[in-house]
Amino acid sequence: MERETLEMDVVFVGAGPANLGGALHLARLVREHDEAIAEGKKEGKPLGSIEIAVIEKGATVGAHILSGAVMDPRALRELMPDFEAQGAPLESPVKEDYFLYLTEKRAIRSPITPPPLKNHGYFIVSLNRLTAWLGEKCEEAGVNIFPEFPGAEMLYDEEDRVVGVRTGDKGIDKEGKRKSNFEPGVDLRAKVTVLGEGPRGSLVKQLSQRLNLNEGREPQVYSLGIKELWELPDDRYHTGRVTHTLGYPSDAQTYGGGWIYGMQNRIINIGYVTGLDYGDPLLDPHAEFQKFKQHPFVARLLEGGKMIRYGAKTIVAGGLHAMPQIYADGVLLVGDCAGFLNSQRLKGIHTAIKSGMLAAETIFEALLANDFSKNQLKLYEQLVGESWIMTELRKVRNFHAAFRHGRWLGLANAGLQFLTGGRAWGIFDRASAEPGHEAMRKLSTYGYHGDQIEQRYNGLRFDGKLTFNKLTDVYHASVKHDEDQPAHLHVLDTNICSTRCAEEYGNPCQRFCPAAVYEMVEDGNKGRRRLQINFSNCVHCKTCDIMDPYQIINWVTPEGGGGPDYKGM
Ligand SMILES: Cc1cc2nc3c(=O)[nH]c(=O)nc-3n(C[C@H](O)[C@H](O)[C@H](O)COP(=O)(O)OP(=O)(O)OC[C@H]3O[C@@H](n4cnc5c(N)ncnc54)[C@H](O)[C@@H]3O)c2cc1C
Repeated sequence: MERETLEMDVVFVGAGPANLGGALHLARLVREHDEAIAEGKKEGKPLGSIEIAVIEKGATVGAHILSGAVMDPRALRELMPDFEAQGAPLESPVKEDYFLYLTEKRAIRSPITPPPLKNHGYFIVSLNRLTAWLGEKCEEAGVNIFPEFPGAEMLYDEEDRVVGVRTGDKGIDKEGKRKSNFEPGVDLRAKVTVLGEGPRGSLVKQLSQRLNLNEGREPQVYSLGIKELWELPDDRYHTGRVTHTLGYPSDAQTYGGGWIYGMQNRIINIGYVTGLDYGDPLLDPHAEFQKFKQHPFVARLLEGGKMIRYGAKTIVAGGLHAMPQIYADGVLLVGDCAGFLNSQRLKGIHTAIKSGMLAAETIFEALLANDFSKNQLKLYEQLVGESWIMTELRKVRNFHAAFRHGRWLGLANAGLQFLTGGRAWGIFDRASAEPGHEAMRKLSTYGYHGDQIEQRYNGLRFDGKLTFNKLTDVYHASVKHDEDQPAHLHVLDTNICSTRCAEEYGNPCQRFCPAAVYEMVEDGNKGRRRLQINFSNCVHCKTCDIMDPYQIINWVTPEGGGGPDYKGM
């Protein structure tokens, strides 16, 4: 097949805060360098026209971006000291912080807000809007932005050096045949490719396997954040108010917690995080979120309000121990796909932007040296090591692991780490004991069998006012995929689903997917059920790729532009 090749200098894959911050910083470094030489303020050769591209699988920049979000502005301020004057879309400075412990019926307010959850000086933002705005700033600085361009494959030379990325083909039907609108993907060749795909990047997965980037590291672990925007009838919840909760509905063995952030115009943003290293195969993170809303404190807050948006996305939680090697020949990893999120604070926007900026500084030096080998790009690791990212992440390096031993030991360890600067001992001294899918236990471990599959959420009803089923929620994520294309969720052996998985785990994909993508349906008169994949519902959260107990689900990018539209999220 004939493919177009586009020669770029640097290609950033994924238009998230990490890559947009990186692309903008790089464009500026190059421009300032050349101007300084032209004005005689600096010696050396100008770099001339450096072609920088950002490709994004979503239909627009921000369409697939979902976050809390309370943003620590530290990195944005370094990138753009006058971001407020330049019109950064900020909902509100944080004005009030609350921390609540929820029992089934009560909400107990902690007299002090734990230091990691203090948000004074930070901003409530819609990350969807903030990234769209950063995208505009990049374009003003001369960066080429290509939405609807999923990075489908890495390009390597004969010595396994990364030389760019191939974008996905368009116009293939569900049988794999070319349609009349067929367009082959483009080979974007670059001196450096920067992967900023967010959690569980599909290219990062390929690359890490091929180049062994995870060798000697702990397995990465994740959480799943499920979120809705609600419009309230009055200003009962102030703009700028931040509430975090612990406790109900998570059981004491499952990592989880809620948030409620007050945005402008009586909109609140409410969500629940569940650790994707839970044991009970019957757990359903979407149902946990619905139960969270049924708590009397939350239900009262939402009474008379209207749910207007829905979304779900995974969060990297493994911290320093699980961080892969972040550079190789011709390639750098930034943001969540490199594991830079601080899971104790549930904050990764600032570290994502900062890592993008450090990647830009590394690439700038590489352009000056005309050397894109891993020896030169290793500078990135050094810059990260010397930056405040490392100081911050070192202090919380053992935060998540201890929650494997239950909520109370987890909290005790978090408190201890606060005093020891992150040090922990024995079983707590690691990111995680095992990857999340291995943490899931078989039905038999819990004594469940056959007809008890529905038992964990027996009392949960979807009333369409406070609680919603997955399909209604997916409608509010404005998800669109052309149905006449091959499914982008590759299940390598569907026979396992009908046999071993049904018996051993009760097909947990039906529960851990927050978008009703996986459904077990009657298989004619065979007396068993088969897997049906409703891929057009997919919100690109990647939970299935992470949590499938047999690791036979492979999430790949669908045709460009498909997926959710997280406007205002
Ligand atoms: C529910 C939730 C709540 C959170 N709350 C907070 C908070 O309050 N404060 C905070 O600081 N952080 C928070 N975070 C974390 C924060 O959102 C992330 O750390 C941050 O967005 C990471 O930025 P990134 O650029 O690395 O990746 P992302 O923001 O995930 O962006 C990645 C982009 O790459 C695109 N992409 C992926 N693969 C490809 C491909 N192959 N080809 C083309 N494009 C691709 C995606 O579509 C996406 O647009 C939260 C996260 C979640 C999920």
